[in-house]
Amino acid sequence: MNDQTITSATQIGHYIGGAVALPPGETSQPVTDPATGAVTGQVSLATRATVDQAVAAAQAAFPAWSNMPPIRRARLMNAFLALVRENKDKLAEAITREHGKVFTDAQGEVERGIDIIEFACGIPQLLKGDYTDQVSTGIDNWTLRQPLGVVAGITPFNFPVMVPMWMFPVAIAAGNTFILKPSPTDPSASLIYADLMKQAGFPDGVFNVVQGDKVAVDALLEHPDVKAVSFVGSTPIANYIYETGARHGKRVQALGGAKNHMLVMPDADMDKAADALIGAGFGSAGERCMAISVAMLVGDAADRLIPALKARAESLLVKNGMELDAEMGPIVTAAARERIAGYIDKGVQEGADLVVDGRGYSVAGHEDGFWLGPTLFDNVTADMTIYREEIFGPVLSCVRAATFADGLKLINEHEFGNGVSLFTRDGNVAREFGRQVQVGMVGINVPIPVPMAWHGFGGWKRSLFGDMHAYGEEGVRFYTKQKSIMQRWPESISEGAEFTMPVSK
Ligand code: NAD
Repeated sequence: MNDQTITSATQIGHYIGGAVALPPGETSQPVTDPATGAVTGQVSLATRATVDQAVAAAQAAFPAWSNMPPIRRARLMNAFLALVRENKDKLAEAITREHGKVFTDAQGEVERGIDIIEFACGIPQLLKGDYTDQVSTGIDNWTLRQPLGVVAGITPFNFPVMVPMWMFPVAIAAGNTFILKPSPTDPSASLIYADLMKQAGFPDGVFNVVQGDKVAVDALLEHPDVKAVSFVGSTPIANYIYETGARHGKRVQALGGAKNHMLVMPDADMDKAADALIGAGFGSAGERCMAISVAMLVGDAADRLIPALKARAESLLVKNGMELDAEMGPIVTAAARERIAGYIDKGVQEGADLVVDGRGYSVAGHEDGFWLGPTLFDNVTADMTIYREEIFGPVLSCVRAATFADGLKLINEHEFGNGVSLFTRDGNVAREFGRQVQVGMVGINVPIPVPMAWHGFGGWKRSLFGDMHAYGEEGVRFYTKQKSIMQRWPESISEGAEFTMPVSK
């Protein structure tokens, strides 16, 4: 395989019923370190039979797990929280070695996953039902929320710790058992936290991992014992997951791709806006669903900002993410780098002005790594491919808009609606933007407005298929079903059968 060298034959297996599983005869796929290009392991690709085993283990664990009082489930989650904190750097290193993002960013990813575990520790309060005394004479009515059963999470390469943690801590604390199908691109972290779940004392079968790709995903989508599927990934796959899962009678929340804009008004603090655009555009090499990929520059903001963006992009420290001064690491795979470089070619062909060109970038000593430098385009227009499609790389496109209304209109017409940001000093503009923008997550002078654990995460339009956002109270609702109980006792039952609609008496 090209000039890649195999440095380790580590086989990355599944985690089923409390143990690592490596069923004989499964095919594998190489896992690479993007900074060196070296193959560092082989990840097993689950067959249907392996998925069936995982579902059976999760199904077997469900009755006892769902019967355990929520406070005891929360105590186990607390133990897991402490272990994840202790192992934060080990998890961050696993992320950097397979994803490529810089180590400090990977630490931040783990930190944001920890937020959700902390939220899930509050599950007794979150599951509290409501109660009405005396809905009719001698009759009370209350609601409770019960877990669904076996639920599955299918996650993308770009957050191998945080995105699974958007899902399984909440699902499991709510009383479900869980099967994670991580991205085969960076699978190792999943086995680390599977082991931490076991160390925390979660019974075997409560949390399982199946490695793999489409075969494993389809097996989960079609399995009658999987009651709900959470997905995060690209829009075409999200759409497929939503339709297929729904056809098989499952609850589905499927979070898709993005094209996040930052609208900069002429009154904004241009220094802060430039810093925000560089960090949000090129952090994690632009491989974040909340990365800013379009700068919508109003009035003279473009002429004032672009020189500053050019200078900052050209001086960014791009290197192996394990080196602590790195500001941007490599692209996740060679194929992703080629795809992104293809978009840069297309931008040039379609007439955008290439201000900084990241193609052909190389890092001394790591020539086989998947490098691409920060790339900046000016005079991008709404009909161009680089404006319409998600690039998912370190490419920032500047669009010039005459007025606030023009910029807002373009944002609202875009097919994606994940995140958006506005930089201004004008409170009224900020207020109108927040109210009118057709996007699920909005930042005012905040470039990457990823909501905190108790607020929930989700975009609009083709950035989310389904009704419920991830985590927060919407997450709890997604992983539970409401039951309403109405009761009375013999002493309060009136004589005789009633044939009319019961009404309050
Ligand atoms: P992807 O859609 O290629 O893969 C996501 C998951 O789906 C993986 O587990 C993968 O194995 C599986 N998969 C891939 N192809 C499949 C197929 N044909 N059938 C069934 N399953 C399949 O996404 P990715 O490249 O891993 O991640 C990047 C994408 O994820 C970007 O589009 C990004 O915007 C998006 N993303 C969105 C959010 C969000 O919250 N909206 C968060 C992170 C990433």
